[in-house]
Amino acid sequence: MIAFFPEIYPDELLYSQLARYHAHSGYMIYRSTAEDLFMNPTVRPEIDFVNRLSLDALNNITRTVSIESIIEKHTMFAYYGRFLNQDRRNSAFRAMVSMQGNYNNLLPMPKRKKDNDRFLRYCPICADNDRQKFGEAYWHRIHQMQGINICPVHHCQLKDSSVIISGKASPALTTAEEVITTFEPVMCDNEIECRLATYIMKVFQSDVDLNNDVLVGDFLYSRMSNTKYRSIRGEQRNISLFHADFTEYYKGLPDNWFTELWQIQKVLANDRINIVEICMLAMFLNISVDDLCNMTLPQKSQQQLFDEEIDRLHEQGVDYAEIADRLNASIHTVKCISQGRYGTYHKQKSQPLKSGAKVKDWHEIDRYNLPLVQSAIQSLQGNGTKRPKRITVAAIEKMVNLRPKQLDNMPMCKAEIQRHTISQEEYWAIEVVWGVNKLIQDSIPVNWKHLRELTNMRKDNLSACMGYLSRYADNDVMAMVKEILA
Ligand SMILES: [Zn+2]
Repeated sequence: MIAFFPEIYPDELLYSQLARYHAHSGYMIYRSTAEDLFMNPTVRPEIDFVNRLSLDALNNITRTVSIESIIEKHTMFAYYGRFLNQDRRNSAFRAMVSMQGNYNNLLPMPKRKKDNDRFLRYCPICADNDRQKFGEAYWHRIHQMQGINICPVHHCQLKDSSVIISGKASPALTTAEEVITTFEPVMCDNEIECRLATYIMKVFQSDVDLNNDVLVGDFLYSRMSNTKYRSIRGEQRNISLFHADFTEYYKGLPDNWFTELWQIQKVLANDRINIVEICMLAMFLNISVDDLCNMTLPQKSQQQLFDEEIDRLHEQGVDYAEIADRLNASIHTVKCISQGRYGTYHKQKSQPLKSGAKVKDWHEIDRYNLPLVQSAIQSLQGNGTKRPKRITVAAIEKMVNLRPKQLDNMPMCKAEIQRHTISQEEYWAIEVVWGVNKLIQDSIPVNWKHLRELTNMRKDNLSACMGYLSRYADNDVMAMVKEILA
């Protein structure tokens, strides 16, 4: 029976409130508290989300706020779930409100490498302030945003606590007050990193509209209208220019993984919904936090508006040359549109990727996709530190969102891929060189055991690739590999 239950603080994780209950309860062991709080007292407390609470706990927690608002404002739901499509967003939210279901399946949680544990983090300045204001420190949600490593309020480096979020730790409820030590904050002077952290925090803390049915990729794409990244009538995008400007804008951002053209393309195609990536695109496009959190699509496309403007001016008696001048278009285009010929001639260009087999203008599609294919190839090749992957037609198709057989109509893209396609043996040679260099870089002894662990290769794979090795390895690496094989 719960006698006293602490109030929840602003932006506090539900886990943190439960941990403070445990500290105040006087129980000596976790199990006693768990019997008060959870339906299943042997459960490991969820740190990002919520466990099935006992009726007693639920009543206490929802004394002044609804369970819906606990989920939205005191768990990480809004961080991972906000940009899901409407159906998935709603099922994830419902699962959380009813405290059932596997949230890791319902929400797109970033995959973590093995042995790469995540800890609850804190900001020393926030902790100091909390101690002055509330008499104790607590765990904040805004310090647990994966992909952001500074406090979005104070712009100092976040510090890992000893409380492990992922996997193995035995069940416990640990308050911030117990484990946070005071220390001098390390300030971040990287302007773009600070701005991005603050932007993402504001998005995270905004209300989630469960009924909004706009897909975030469509929204971002619509906000490229009337920029230099889409042609005057909006039907073509200049994605290479966008990519170049975008990477330039974020070039100072540390640990930035969102740099590839095909990754951007996937967000715009509604295939990736990482909140950090979405916010990077939105901030670059000057989209306000408010607009991003209340996404609407224009009633009419840029193309429709453009065509209507031509009709309007034409009806007013403005001549074609003058219209072309005012709208910054060619007189030929204006004439064609006005006389209804442009549509029939160009219609199939408007959605080159989606209209699939019906599209006739394969040359245009081929040209459009070439930079995407090149970027995907480059990404698979790795960069020395990143592990190289084997370039195959299937891998590229997946990254660039092409359907099987589409490449048959795209000679430029196909040739580009073929030029980079190599045999399995040659790929092993590249992998071996990468592996040896990685071991050297990490100061790990270069021997068969370590190389095998890194590459998953078998010894016969290693001998099979020897013929190609000299293409990729310098003399030192060659000698080391021969040593291993000897
Ligand atoms: Zn702070």
